[in-house]
Formats: sequence, structure tokens, C-alpha cells
Amino acid sequence: PTEDYENLRRRIYSNTKELWYYVNHELTKVLQEDNKAEKIQTILDQIAERKRSLLSDQQELPNLDGYKDWRIAEAANVSDLVQRRLRHLQNPPDCKDARKLICNLNKGCGFGCQLHHIVYCLIFAYATERTLILNSKGWRYNNKGWDYVFQPISDSCTSAYDDKVVQWPVTYDAKVVSLPFIDSISQKPKFLPLAIPKDLAHRITRFNGDPSSWWIGQMLKYVLKPRQAMQKAINDTIAKMNFKTPIVGVHIRRTDKVGTEAAFHHIHEYMAHVKDYYDQLELTRPVAVRRVYLATDDANVLEDARSKYPGYTFLGDASIAKTAATHRRYTPLSLTGLLVDLHMLAMCDYLVCTFSSQVGRVAYEMMQTNRVDASDSFFSLDDIYYFGGQNAHDRIAVMHNDGNYQDIAFQVGDLIGIAGNHWNGYGRGTNKRTNLNGLIPWYKTADHLVLYPFPEYKQVPM
Ligand code: GDP
Repeated sequence: PTEDYENLRRRIYSNTKELWYYVNHELTKVLQEDNKAEKIQTILDQIAERKRSLLSDQQELPNLDGYKDWRIAEAANVSDLVQRRLRHLQNPPDCKDARKLICNLNKGCGFGCQLHHIVYCLIFAYATERTLILNSKGWRYNNKGWDYVFQPISDSCTSAYDDKVVQWPVTYDAKVVSLPFIDSISQKPKFLPLAIPKDLAHRITRFNGDPSSWWIGQMLKYVLKPRQAMQKAINDTIAKMNFKTPIVGVHIRRTDKVGTEAAFHHIHEYMAHVKDYYDQLELTRPVAVRRVYLATDDANVLEDARSKYPGYTFLGDASIAKTAATHRRYTPLSLTGLLVDLHMLAMCDYLVCTFSSQVGRVAYEMMQTNRVDASDSFFSLDDIYYFGGQNAHDRIAVMHNDGNYQDIAFQVGDLIGIAGNHWNGYGRGTNKRTNLNGLIPWYKTADHLVLYPFPEYKQVPM
């Protein structure tokens, strides 16, 4: 398929949803003010049904356009290419001689945050053609280090020997460079997320609607390979669950996050999207059991959900949630539970979560590696997708907007720095040409993908 066809198809899909967010929001408001409640409720129900039908039809397009097999093969090929390039980078012919980048895994945060730290390091290594050395002795999840839980990120090169280590940013081409945490680097290199490699961009965009998270997912795919003992522990827990599709994954992040980094969201807010997913699915096929895989760090949520939603079958492990609720102990046990949850969420057909949580974002990134395109298979109750410490994320205006008392004016081609989507048809952002900040009708803008000229690893066959 051509890139234009793909972009247009995604645009229609997204804007149908945007129309719905708008109508739903406006009519819900009137509903509260007016005594025409019943009438308006009927209208809302009707529009919801029509929206589901529209989206359902559009979801069929890629199955019918004749490129379905091509997309599956292309996604597998590009993923394989990236994995082979990473293996090449991580296994230099002469380790002693190789240029290296050193990262320390001991970032004082949860596992999702640490995974993203490794992703940042690996992208940095890929961009600067340096073999990544991961220091992880005394790691909070396993004192002996990363390699005792996961397969090492290199088979042949895991030490910088006695070479001099220079802290980045370097003024000369030092052989061994150590990298600070992403939060503390000044002058962020342009290759950091959400940028993607220019040489692969036009391949990725033809099968995936969100290349940035696909690219990040590829880094996770490379590093997240549990060793046999860990894999067995994961498999054993999963075997006890009756995992079957269709299934929706729900991630509910509570405990220490609520009130500090994210707002509390009631179970109803998550379940509204689960219901919508199944209502839409039922337009094309019967659904005997509405399954939900529920992952959470709140020990009471699973029971609460089961009692409030008897029409749904909840899968999940209360003991994992209980361990997670006390995750500050950072035990190997809590790591096993989290890996089970991440693995399961990433296998679900659809994901409802909060992207303010790194766990929610990792689940989505993993989902992106599990299928050709997961970019329309999630709903985040709060943030749009981002990478912590990322470079500016812009949208580009594809339609003109006059602007009024609440929304800002823009011209076609204007870049708009994005703060978030309000899921009511509008987002908030700053027009970089005029510096005006305010609301933007989301449908008049498109994601602005940053392509960076990463090394092309010509030694690795295409
Ligand atoms: P964030 O704080 O949610 O952005 O993500 P982090 O990964 O940095 O820290 C959260 C920690 O809480 C995780 O590493 C887990 O230990 C725990 N946690 C959060 N949500 C879940 C969950 O759904 N399941 C499990 N098993 N643990 C969770």
C-alpha cells in the first residue's frame, strides 16, 4: 500500500473517534442542564452505535485491501532487521577494541522506569555505534544483577576492561563513555525518542500507525528475554489462568502513584472502554464471555471489579496484586508478578490503562512487538503516549483553524507542541510559529514524526 493510503485510512479512523468524543462531551453537558434528558440519551446511544459500526467497518479495511499478508511479512522483516543490527552492535568482533557506552541500571525507580532507562541507553548506543555495557551489580530486583534474571544483552562483550571511562557529553571521541540518566542530560541529542531511524521510517509507517512506540518496543524485545528459571515461573503462573481471546487488558495503577503523579480513576472509567470494545466486537461476531485481564498494584481492585461487574469474567492473580501493592520492597517475587502482568497485558486484544504509568506504556510497547500494528488497540485514561525525557512532541496542522475565544489559530504546516488530549475533541498545545497556547481541534492536526539519520548498519544484510 502507499503511505498516503495508510495515512488517510488512519486519519479517517482517528477522526471518527474525535467526532464521537466531541458529541459525547457536548451532549453529556446538555444532559445535565436540560430536562430533555431522555431524548438526548437516545441520541447519544444512537450515535454510539453508529460510531461503533463505522469503526468496525474501517477496521476491516486492512483485512480486505489485499496487503494483509504483505504487512505481516514486512513487520516481521523490519523487526528481524532491527534485532540483527542490535545483535551486531552488541557483539563486536573484538570486544577489547570496541567503542562502548556504559549505563548503570541502578536508577532508583520501579521496573517500568528502569526498562525505559535501558531503552534510552540502547537507542543511544545504536545512534553512536557503541556497544552498551550494562552495570547492574546490586540491582534492587536481584542483587547479583540483570544477567541472573534475563539473558545478557551481549554474548561476548560485557566489560569495559580497564579503559578510561569518560562521562557524556564528550568533547573528543572517547573510547568508553558513561551515560547519565535521561532526566539529567542537558542538550538532548535529536536521536532520542520519539525520533525513529530515517532509513527504516518509510518501511515502518507502511505497516504501523505509531512508529515511535514500535521502535521503543523493538529495544524492549531485544533486552527482555527471561532466563530459563524466570521463564518457567512466568509460564507456570500463566498456565493456571484460563487465558483465551477475545480478552481486554486493564491496568489500574494506584497506591503510591495516586495524588503524586496521577489522578485516581474509578473502575467504572476503565470498564466503560471495555464495554465499548465488546459492544463493537459484537457487531461482527458473537461474544460468549466478556473476558478481562486485570493487572494492578491495588490488592482490592480484583475483588471489587468482580462484585461490580458480574457480566464480565476477570482474570488476574490477587497474590500478584498484593505483592505489587508493597512493591517498594522490590523483591524477585514482585518482579516475576510484574513480568506475568506485562506479558498478559501485551497479549490482550485491547488495552485500557493510564499512560502516566510506565507499566501501562511498557505493556503497550510490548503489544506493538506482538502484532503488526497495535496503535489503535488501546485507550489511555490520562496521558497520550510519551517517553519520559523525550524531545518535544509536535503535531502538524493539516487544516486551517481560525481560532476563537477558546481554541488557537493555526495555518496548514504549523507545528504545535502538544501537552495532551482531553478526549473531548480537543487537545492542548502551543503553536510554535505564533507562541499561542490553547485548545486545538485534534482532527485538524496529525502526528509529526521525527526522522533521524541513525547509522544504517550496512554490514548487516537487509
Ligand atoms: P509507574 O510508577 O507506574 O510509572 O511505573 P514503575 O514501573 O516505574 O513503578 C511501578 C511499580 O509498581 C512497578 O515496577 C511494579 O513493581 C508495581 N506495579 C505497578 N502496576 C503493577 C501491576 O499492574 N502489576 C504488578 N505486578 N506490579 C505493578
